[in-house]
Amino acid sequence: MSETINRIRDLGSREREVLAWLGQQHDAMVALLAELVNIDSGSYNKAGVDAVGERFARFFAEHDIATSVIAGEQRGNLVRAHVDGSDGANAPILLMGHRDTVFPEGEAERRPFRIENGRAYGPGVADMKAGLVMHAFVLAAYRRVGGAAAPLVALFTSDEEIGSSFSRKFIEAEAASARFALNAEPARPSGNVVTGRKGGVFMRCEVFGKAAHSGSSFADGASAISELAHKIIALDKLTDLDRGITLNVGLIRGGQSINTSAPLAQGEIDLRFLGPKDRDEIMTKIEEIVTTNMIKGTRATLEIMGEFLPLVPTQASERLFKQYQGTAQDLGLNVEGEFTGACADSGFSAGVGTPTLCGMGPVGGKVHTADEFLEVGSLVPRAQLAALTIARLAGQGER
Ligand SMILES: [Zn+2]
Repeated sequence: MSETINRIRDLGSREREVLAWLGQQHDAMVALLAELVNIDSGSYNKAGVDAVGERFARFFAEHDIATSVIAGEQRGNLVRAHVDGSDGANAPILLMGHRDTVFPEGEAERRPFRIENGRAYGPGVADMKAGLVMHAFVLAAYRRVGGAAAPLVALFTSDEEIGSSFSRKFIEAEAASARFALNAEPARPSGNVVTGRKGGVFMRCEVFGKAAHSGSSFADGASAISELAHKIIALDKLTDLDRGITLNVGLIRGGQSINTSAPLAQGEIDLRFLGPKDRDEIMTKIEEIVTTNMIKGTRATLEIMGEFLPLVPTQASERLFKQYQGTAQDLGLNVEGEFTGACADSGFSAGVGTPTLCGMGPVGGKVHTADEFLEVGSLVPRAQLAALTIARLAGQGER
């Protein structure tokens, strides 16, 4: 890689130093990653998510990087790090990542960080503690040389896996004044990044019926379960694969006993869509289904529990991707853009009009499962790719 870097012509001495220093950080990156993976940080585990944040705050302090913390009451705190730009006139570049994982407490003890055949394992190793480590080292690399041409702002958030209800407003505010946003979700196993994502709405439909003995007074009852069943069938019919619209009722619960008409039933609904217009159209239809009752004596409510905006490609985000792809080529890496139906915080930065690239973290796969892995050898190259992309973006004019 160092010969490849020597061949790149548009590098100033600072950028050369940034890439060279990152080239020596493999062991330090792995050591930090091991520590972080061994801290349980499920989204609802505030103490654990905060412990991961404190470990990063310590890293930032060691590297003389300005850090501030915004307290979350129920969710983990938000950690913001900042490296001044050498040219104050440039708008900042936003580096994004989340510290929470989908795993329960005790998971890190059951499957601690380990490396086997070039792959690292452990809860959140790819999604996305490796991406956070990458961002942290890129910040440190630029801090050592007096900053990039533009300020770098990093947000290490706490609740992405449950919809970012706490972090969203901070992401949107930072993104609104940023020139570009780079989200370090894992690169795909192929090495590709993510240039488009679906949006998602996560809802709870609660159906209220009337309890009655199903033997002695059947006609007095109204079954919330039967009503929910009608609604589920109707919701399923809204799925339109050709338009990228899907509905999944992934959780149901309800009823009181086998011989009682159900007084209560709940269904949790996952809607995915491509564009904001599709969202509004389908939400109207969902509300219609929820408020139309097939079984007399029942009623229902709908509550939005969480929501992600789609990452919709724009001309500006295309240019950002091309820049990244060209930079990857210069470093000897082949990177294509991919679309995924999974949602992420990149939808929020893109939603305020900021060109956003997602999945530009180190390479990993099988996320959200016990087989989740990280290609350890991708830590340094992806950090160098991010740093070189920043070097080239930072010098460009306003967006
Ligand atoms: Zn993630």
